[in-house]
Amino acid sequence: MNKVLSHTTLDVKQVRKDFPILKREVNGKPLIYLDNAATSQTPQQVIDVIVDYYSGYNANIHRGVHALSQEATDAYEQARIKIQKHFNAKQSHEIIFTSGTTHGINLVANGFSSLLKKGDEIIVSALEHHSNIVPWQMLCERTGAILKVIPMNTDGELVISEFEKLLNPNTKLVFVNHVSNALGTINPIETIIEKAHDVGAAVLVDGAQAAPHIKANVQELNVDFYVCSAHKMCGPTGIGMLYGKEEWLKKLPPYQGGGEMIAEVTFEKTTYADLPHKFEAGTPNICGGIAFGAALDYMNTVGFNTLANYENELLEYATSKLQAIEGVKIYGTSRHKTSVISFNVGNIHPYDIGTILDKMGIAVRTGHHCAQPIMDYFKIPGTVRASFMFYNTKEEIDTFIASLKKAVMMLS
Ligand code: PLP
Repeated sequence: MNKVLSHTTLDVKQVRKDFPILKREVNGKPLIYLDNAATSQTPQQVIDVIVDYYSGYNANIHRGVHALSQEATDAYEQARIKIQKHFNAKQSHEIIFTSGTTHGINLVANGFSSLLKKGDEIIVSALEHHSNIVPWQMLCERTGAILKVIPMNTDGELVISEFEKLLNPNTKLVFVNHVSNALGTINPIETIIEKAHDVGAAVLVDGAQAAPHIKANVQELNVDFYVCSAHKMCGPTGIGMLYGKEEWLKKLPPYQGGGEMIAEVTFEKTTYADLPHKFEAGTPNICGGIAFGAALDYMNTVGFNTLANYENELLEYATSKLQAIEGVKIYGTSRHKTSVISFNVGNIHPYDIGTILDKMGIAVRTGHHCAQPIMDYFKIPGTVRASFMFYNTKEEIDTFIASLKKAVMMLS
């Protein structure tokens, strides 16, 4: 197993040794994995934690008096504390384990059903993933609340002056992503949170795309809810977290009923467990939670400043190379971006480019990226999206660009 040293300058060759999957070939070519915004790859350090769990102390948590159960409970609760520290939550019970971002958003949207009434207003942004649109539309159907939308400009940035106009004393909740998955734009969430709070509205930030690149400090942000998924930050799928301020989590009713989330059950009346268990019904993804903690350890050892600087270099490098190709149009041209490039070439369908790149061992994502309103705004069916992590290299980008040129020649 490789030990990751704390780098000020990233030693990418060393880091790549930690990711066994990067050694494989696809269609006879070395894999170049540029689909990190969909899911990131997993380092050996995290894989080892998963293997250790199932080979060493696999047991159900919280209810067991036996050794394995206690070891699993300790490791799971330690992981919660790691997540608390990483996001600088005040208390560990403000961290709720979820199955991912989508689950966290649905949990909050469901909770607000009992807090909203007809005519209340909630605000979404034009830059959202469907996960941060559909649960709120369903909430509006249940409550009669009204959904309003912060528009974006042609650079793929939110228009804050328009957001200000939407705010009023009826605004109860604002939900925006920290970083857009389709365009990579980093949204000015500090300003959005402050302005929403000025009218007494709560704010949920979807951190699914930000968490792999930016270390959010929830207390400093003064955000009410922050959600993310481990699989986008070197952890496994099926696990994520919801941070909620204690006062909000106490106000929201439970999302699912079942074991673990109760204090006492009779057929006449059931009382609920304290936080965080009130929101964690049933046997959770124990191994996933522990591995999420290990993924945060890994990323923090690499260092968020270090990886962000390096990824910015990759972004600039790839952007300038792409711009030099005739017919390329990049969507999302804000100066405030993480390492995502969404583009099309002439009238070529993104799917065709993605398919040919795959034949050359290069994984990119094509389509609407679960953000159809953004595609509608630009009047396109979809884009090709290349997204980078700190284990990608400039050499990989060179190969990607050369392969893209070949694909374009074949398709023109
Ligand atoms: N929000 C954003 C911005 C995303 O990029 C994604 C996934 O791509 C999600 C939400 C949904 O995440 P998950 O599928 O892990 O629940």
